[in-house]
Amino acid sequence: MTTIIRQDDFIGSVADALQYMSYYHPVDYITALGEAYRREQSPAARDAIAQILTNSRMCAQGHRPVCQDTGIVVVFLKVGMQVQWDADLSVEEMVNEGVRRAYLDPDNVLRASIVADPAGARKNTRDNTPAVIHMQIVPGHTVEVKLAAKGGGSENQARFAMLNPSDNIAAWVLETVPTMGAGWCPPGILGIGIGGTAEKAMLLAKEALLDPIDIHALKARGPKTRLDELRMEIFDGVNALGIGAQGLGGLTTVLDVKILDYPTHAASLPVAIIPNCAATRHAHFVMDGTGRVALPVPNLDDWPQVNWAPAPNARRVNLDTVTRQEIAGWKPGEPLLLSGRILTGRDAAHRRIADLVNSGTALPPGVDFTNRFIYYVGPVDPVRDEIVGPAGPTTATRMDKFTEVMLAKTGLLGMIGKAERGAAGIDAIRRHKAVYLIAVGGAAYLVSKAIRSSRIVAFPDLGMEAIYEFEVENMPVVVAVDTEGNAAHSTGPAEWRQRIATLKVIPS
Ligand code: SF4
Repeated sequence: MTTIIRQDDFIGSVADALQYMSYYHPVDYITALGEAYRREQSPAARDAIAQILTNSRMCAQGHRPVCQDTGIVVVFLKVGMQVQWDADLSVEEMVNEGVRRAYLDPDNVLRASIVADPAGARKNTRDNTPAVIHMQIVPGHTVEVKLAAKGGGSENQARFAMLNPSDNIAAWVLETVPTMGAGWCPPGILGIGIGGTAEKAMLLAKEALLDPIDIHALKARGPKTRLDELRMEIFDGVNALGIGAQGLGGLTTVLDVKILDYPTHAASLPVAIIPNCAATRHAHFVMDGTGRVALPVPNLDDWPQVNWAPAPNARRVNLDTVTRQEIAGWKPGEPLLLSGRILTGRDAAHRRIADLVNSGTALPPGVDFTNRFIYYVGPVDPVRDEIVGPAGPTTATRMDKFTEVMLAKTGLLGMIGKAERGAAGIDAIRRHKAVYLIAVGGAAYLVSKAIRSSRIVAFPDLGMEAIYEFEVENMPVVVAVDTEGNAAHSTGPAEWRQRIATLKVIPS
């Protein structure tokens, strides 16, 4: 029997699935995160998880992206040998047309994050194409499609090692996870690929992330294979590290550990880790020739009943009048609510600012950082009556190499991003008595609701990387590095690791 798959059905199904997963978290993920919230004892981690859960429900209701980074599309296709295509385009062209339609959908426009010529001009392709496509021809008469939209912050923390066959895989993972920092927006899932060759191990790690969360069912029934044992060992070991939500210290760092393996060379033990983040986005469907596939609308009653509210002890800060003297009193881990004007800027804008400053050229009109804060963000374009689309923080570590020049030459008072700062960033912060604050990665729609006005002030050609001026009201952030260089991402996990080890606090 031959199955005929029509071009429009395939393109439409891909586009619909990408839209769907931009605003619906998988129910297994949201249930596991709800459980983590219930168990969490660290106030900072609990607050961060509450923001992510609240954001998730808002996005499901509003059909807007769970994160401003709407990801690079990765597709796994299994095409049956009895499938015939009624199509003019190649399969890859059809996938990319589906991506194009999904990301440019005017009802829920998604952020285009893909740049061509990655080692050169890095020019945005404007429609988030091309996808990364892996295709297999298999027996059968259906097309199985697995789609993911992978955020850059978590993809950037992928790791790979060629271990010796006698090395301990779990030990390598437990050594490696702390080096991944918090840029992958934990709590999330670790995908681990073992065996094959270097590229096969990476592919296995990515595909493993698409399987449902079931670690607690595994624990309940007990391990049956070596991979089951490894999953449990790594899951418990990583959670005992105390890294916690957003890397602020806490009981849950991973919600599951998924492993796929493949036979390998007798001399080799390739192992890959790819983390999935708070914006866990994937969808699966099968085409059998009966038309365009509609994924089931989830029941919002399955979302945990968590409604984030600002911490009662949060310090209220007026950004239009804040002084160096005032910020000197802020402590790592302290929650703040920011109101007033901030400028935005991320990688490309920092590069341009640094070039201008280093060459003695004035910054563009309207770009004055004196006594101001910069927010590392690349927002989604607004739709309907929105002032700005989802606008969560991007990983601050990438801006470390620009921090000295920004603080020394522009009068900047502080920065807002996500994840830890590196040594160069912290040194500059300490030297210039500045501060670094974090917003919650993966709570982008919630954060965007604090933005009352938005206008582009420089570099409009950079698209989402342009410099905007936002006026915010009660934007929730946490002090991550104080004026003395004390860092919550060091003290928080150290404290919770010790609590888990010595006080018999039970991680997830
Ligand atoms: S949740 Fe964090 S790592 Fe994931 S896409 Fe959003 S900002 Fe990036």
